Amino acid sequence: MRITTLLLWDIDGTLLTAGGAGMRALQTALQRVFSIDGSINDIDFAGRTDRWIMRQIFAKFGLPASEENFTRLADGYVTALPEHLADRGVHLLPGIPALLATAEARGDMALGLLTGNLRRGAEAKLNSRDLWRFFPFGAFADDSEDRDRLGPHALRRARAHHGVEFAPANTWVIGDTPHDVVCARAFGARALAVATGRHAVVQLQSLQPDAVFENLADTASFWRAIGAA
Ligand SMILES: [Mg+2]
Repeated sequence: MRITTLLLWDIDGTLLTAGGAGMRALQTALQRVFSIDGSINDIDFAGRTDRWIMRQIFAKFGLPASEENFTRLADGYVTALPEHLADRGVHLLPGIPALLATAEARGDMALGLLTGNLRRGAEAKLNSRDLWRFFPFGAFADDSEDRDRLGPHALRRARAHHGVEFAPANTWVIGDTPHDVVCARAFGARALAVATGRHAVVQLQSLQPDAVFENLADTASFWRAIGAA
């Protein structure tokens, strides 16, 4: 069967919820690596890339935003993440296991990630629920600090992996924040928004995505929206 459609998934608030483990791991890393105890709870992180969040942390605590500091904080974060994931528990959001299994079985869908997570963080989160294997490629915070620039990286890796040039019109970005919708538009892709994160349907609707769902439990409606019923 020919692969025609590319589904690019956000992670936090879309595939799963990790109970704030990511921000807790960053807080732990800040303490362990830089001996800073101040809170990072006031940083509005939803839909942002990990690298963008780290830059806000450096600014807040007067640390130079040097590559060395990015690397030190990222290493500390990845090291601390598994203990926080185990502590908080990673929960898959409604419909996700069924959607991924169906997408794999259909044979006409390519699955990838388009996430603000660092690649190593994405791997830890998804591996904790055996989902990493569904996503042979993706675009991550390692590629750009700016989420709106991640789309072309995902398309390039999709082409390299499948040998298929996916048209933006056949590419869907699935995410839970206004940033995901804007990111899709930035490279001409379609946007499917889901209100399983911190944003309500009405907030997501205001960005005019191609489809909006309260959650993805109704998998038949999901495939209809994608045009693959
Ligand atoms: Mg998200």
